[in-house]
Amino acid sequence: MNDAKKIDETLLHKVFQELSQANRVLLISHIRPDGDAVGSLIGLGLSLQESGKEVQMVLADGIPEIFRHIPGSEQVKKRSQGVFEMTVVVDCSDKGRAGDALNGVSLPDLNIDHHPTNTGFGKYNLVDESAVATAEILGQYLPEYSFPITKEIADALLFGMITDTLGFRTNNMTSRAMKTAAALMDAGGDLPGLYQKGLLNRTYSAARFWGAGLSSLQRDGKLIWATLSLDDRTKAGYPGRDDADLINFLSTIKSVDVVIMFTEQEKGKVKVSWRATPAYDVAQVAMHFGGGGHTAAAGATIEGNLKDVQATIISTTKLITGIN
Ligand code: 5GP
Ligand code: MN
Repeated sequence: MNDAKKIDETLLHKVFQELSQANRVLLISHIRPDGDAVGSLIGLGLSLQESGKEVQMVLADGIPEIFRHIPGSEQVKKRSQGVFEMTVVVDCSDKGRAGDALNGVSLPDLNIDHHPTNTGFGKYNLVDESAVATAEILGQYLPEYSFPITKEIADALLFGMITDTLGFRTNNMTSRAMKTAAALMDAGGDLPGLYQKGLLNRTYSAARFWGAGLSSLQRDGKLIWATLSLDDRTKAGYPGRDDADLINFLSTIKSVDVVIMFTEQEKGKVKVSWRATPAYDVAQVAMHFGGGGHTAAAGATIEGNLKDVQATIISTTKLITGIN
């Protein structure tokens, strides 16, 4: 896939010109941060700091334990403090995804993202759907606009690219992304080490949590789904609120086109994640429930108990995607 839509050059120049001019910058990414949220936030944050700017990096949920190996992660705060000339949001498809981090900011200045479901909530919206990760956009254009890429910055951005592409194997991969990743390696990015930390290393409790999810696995034709309850989480001793990446394992099962993962949350909510082969568009289903994502990987958080949410989601997924 190299038929990427050409990026709007005027917008690109404007965004990087704005970035060059601001001195006090607030950087934000999404709740339940993943590797691309964290890698993009820290990669951009450190590069702006290297350029002599004062930067605050904020994630409403803070930095999860699994990302604390990334240099610069110790700087990430849960709330911003002070006054800023510019607010930049990375890897967020809508304003709500930033959670409380955007409180008090009615119009973020820059919205840099790669989700096709991006609502364009910023003053300037640099949304490149052909990018495999927000970190790819930054990895490509930061050096082009003379922002520094130190080893730490290269590591953070490469980490975002590796995790969002599951190790450069998702259907949206491009040779352009490989070239950007190679340039990040040339700048010191440790591909094998980051791959190991981002995709292979698991904790004992995550493996036990997987066990509970795997034993719940069900199938209806080319659709499969699994459930993780709060009770499963407690019994496994798993500290996160996510599915411990179980969905990415489930999506390796042969002869399956759509995978749905239901992860029960506190306060009567359920996190739903979808994965699909290229024949299906699960972003449409996620959007129907107030979520978003990519055609092949999407998510939403829904109110209700596990059983009801499961029934509604399975029937609506079948209806919208036409799977079976
Ligand atoms: P996952 O469900 O595995 O956390 O995420 C899959 C994809 O869907 C990611 O690109 C993620 O950013 C997006 N996504 C997950 N949950 C939500 C959500 O609640 N809202 C939106 N807009 N996107 C989501
Ligand atoms: Mn991303």
